[in-house]
Amino acid sequence: MSRIIVIGGGLAGLTAAYWAVEAGLEVSLLEATHRFGGHTRTAKLDAIALELGEEFFEDTPDTLLNLCGLLGLEPQPLPDLRRVVRQGGQDWVLPAGLNLASGYGLHQIAELPFSRSVKWRLGTERFTPTALVKDELLGAFFRRRLGPEVWGVLEPYLSATLGGPAEDVSAPAAFGRLVGLERKGGLLAGSRPLTTEGRWHLVEGMGALIEALSKHLFPKARLLPHHQVWAITRDSRSWTVHTQGGQLEAEAIIMALSAPQAAKVFRPSAPQITTLLNHFPHQHSAKVYLLCRRDELTAGPGEFFFARGEGYTSSALKLTHPNPEMTLARVQFAGETARSADSELSRLAEQDLAKCLQTRVRPLAAWVFRQPFSRPHFTQGQARRTADLERELVHAPGLFLTGSYLAGPGLANLVEHSRQTTQHALDFLALSTA
Ligand SMILES: Cc1cc2nc3c(=O)[nH]c(=O)nc-3n(C[C@H](O)[C@H](O)[C@H](O)COP(=O)(O)OP(=O)(O)OC[C@H]3O[C@@H](n4cnc5c(N)ncnc54)[C@H](O)[C@@H]3O)c2cc1C
Repeated sequence: MSRIIVIGGGLAGLTAAYWAVEAGLEVSLLEATHRFGGHTRTAKLDAIALELGEEFFEDTPDTLLNLCGLLGLEPQPLPDLRRVVRQGGQDWVLPAGLNLASGYGLHQIAELPFSRSVKWRLGTERFTPTALVKDELLGAFFRRRLGPEVWGVLEPYLSATLGGPAEDVSAPAAFGRLVGLERKGGLLAGSRPLTTEGRWHLVEGMGALIEALSKHLFPKARLLPHHQVWAITRDSRSWTVHTQGGQLEAEAIIMALSAPQAAKVFRPSAPQITTLLNHFPHQHSAKVYLLCRRDELTAGPGEFFFARGEGYTSSALKLTHPNPEMTLARVQFAGETARSADSELSRLAEQDLAKCLQTRVRPLAAWVFRQPFSRPHFTQGQARRTADLERELVHAPGLFLTGSYLAGPGLANLVEHSRQTTQHALDFLALSTA
């Protein structure tokens, strides 16, 4: 019997297994597919790296940045890209380094070509009284602090970053640090002393992190790909994990799946947990990569953000030059559109590219990657949903849940949540042995 079984071999599961192994425990890591990494994946096509999941991470909390160092990786600050929001028939070039997750550089918003009245409002934002609205919507929060014009420009960028309509997001759940800045005398004044933009990436791609974690874990942990978990059950002593290959037992379980994936595992034995997990909303996501000849597509590097209407979809376009002859365009979709057929997504991506550059593009190759239900959407009620789930888990000693739907946006939060969850599991095991 393993002391801990980790279910799910994405970044959350791999890091949970890492800390459990570092604590000297016997660990099994079960992954449904043939490969570890989940949504964090870099596909390599010749020398071109296609990032399928998140492309960078924050340095706060610093657990992931430090872990990279421990694994011998050398993260680099994310290079500055020209970021343009196309809104109201106008191009708004976002200030260099602006990071809305940390608040860094927010004061530079006042340099954008807003009307005098908007600039005056921004200049006096620090005198706007702090309103402690519980679980306020992000749109309402920004309109209240900075005005509707500023929100109109930031909204397409934030929707693309969050992978769903930013208007519906809970400000404290998704941007707790901004809410904190309001209490420190205003967003613009509070952002001024911040000293780091704080976004990092791995030049070789985020896949290098998965590779380094897997190498570190093997053979210290039992890594079991092709082990899809159907259900988990518990008797008075231990947990039983039911997979297509048979049953495994453990004293504690860390379930590192997305909420929709975890909901399926609980259905046979704990439908009440399935119901609670189904209350965490998730959006679909898709990335389309178009490879074009550089003499046909000279623009870039840079990123463009558009707001869309129907249903709701955000779309973001990134142009880079993987080599002197080529331009690589990445178009990212979130929302219902991300479920469209590959041909439709390619067509929409080409349309976005043509609209953005006002020219027809003829890609040499297109790749479409669709990830249904991959992006947690931190809508109002996130704190209540989490509290309800935690209350239910009190009746399941030795069972611990982690995943981005509980951690908040971004990989840095995810890895810190996974570390804390593993620590709770270790504390539980220490107490049950005592
Ligand atoms: C393009 C893109 C951008 C994103 N950006 C953000 C972002 O900005 N912020 C954010 O919070 N999130 C974002 N996400 C969501 C992203 O999925 C997570 O942040 C992160 O990858 C989640 O890691 P994870 O390990 O929790 O889950 P996953 O990466 O989903 O890994 C779960 C693993 O469990 C396996 N599995 C599933 N079911 C079972 C089972 N029954 N038995 C065994 N194994 C199972 C899966 O095969 C998978 O390998 C983004 C996703 C995409 C695709």
